[in-house]
Amino acid sequence: SAFENGSKNPRASCSETLNRRDGAAVMPLRNNPPKPQNAITIAVSSRALFNMDREQDIYEQQGMEDYLKYQIQHEIEPFAPGPAFPFIKAVEAVNTRLRELYPDSEELFDVVLMTSNHAHVGLRLINSINHYQLFIERFCMTGGNSLIGYLKAYHANLYLSADSMKVREAIEEGIAAATVFSPGKITEVPETQLRVAFDGDAVLFSDESERIYKAHGLDKFFEHEKAHENKPLDHGPLKGFLEALGKLQQKFYAKGQRLDCPIRTYLVTARSAASSGTRALKTLRSWGLETDEALFLAGAPKGPMLEKIRPHIFFDDQMFHVEGAAELGTVAAHVPYGIAQTLGNRLEQSSFDSFRLLGH
Ligand SMILES: [Mg+2]
Repeated sequence: SAFENGSKNPRASCSETLNRRDGAAVMPLRNNPPKPQNAITIAVSSRALFNMDREQDIYEQQGMEDYLKYQIQHEIEPFAPGPAFPFIKAVEAVNTRLRELYPDSEELFDVVLMTSNHAHVGLRLINSINHYQLFIERFCMTGGNSLIGYLKAYHANLYLSADSMKVREAIEEGIAAATVFSPGKITEVPETQLRVAFDGDAVLFSDESERIYKAHGLDKFFEHEKAHENKPLDHGPLKGFLEALGKLQQKFYAKGQRLDCPIRTYLVTARSAASSGTRALKTLRSWGLETDEALFLAGAPKGPMLEKIRPHIFFDDQMFHVEGAAELGTVAAHVPYGIAQTLGNRLEQSSFDSFRLLGH
């Protein structure tokens, strides 16, 4: 589907020498990137970080050669920000605060630009990164090879891409990953506090309860969740990322900055507080995790609530929640995991409606 697959060059290169900013003189690094095993590594694709819609159109309508020609002709023109851009900016704001508090610690976010784009596009990407003064020192051009090996080598804690096929591949390999979508309108998000919102079932948690609901309906689901209230749910694909955020939050709490913490997390679930919500909260507690806020929407649409929260990113496994959030201005990311992926949107929609009709 995407040109990111289109490169004929099988050679891959990962570069950590982007400090060679002007292509000639080597400038000093502003900060050394942390070692991958210490860092919270976020791998982001070029089309998630930047808006390349126009270039994608040229590729699809005119082919690879015209696409590359266009990119080279526009090399000094920075790309416009893409859907993951505000998230990456906020991540860097957190790093600035961490470096002030812990100058020698490598427990920081590290952003890797991960692209299978052609090497000719690399210079425009570097120019764009410099234009926006992003702290991206690691740059992985895989030349059409699978990204999985690179994601593993970098210990990626999260992979964000515009390419749903690549995201699916990563999820199947047990890597936290999501397809990011551009919102339908621009919502201003905070610059000094990173806000991350998670769905519960099939995102932080496994899809085990979702399966009961899909197979036996809402009443059985409530019954099941009540009966298993004290049995923690198994973990889902994004649990590790919440854990990583929690670890960084603790570093701020340890310096007395709980109220002023630059990371805030949200659980935004269709579960209802009174019945099925208990198991969700008890599961998080059993993991030693918490979110700063937990919103039990009892089947109400998530978009309007997210519009108030203004997160930099919201993760959900169901496309209608992703679409609903994006329509109202939230950058929403789809996690292709669990039972919902095998059922059509129509079924999801009808079960969503029955949720509402039942008044839950
Ligand atoms: Mg879900």
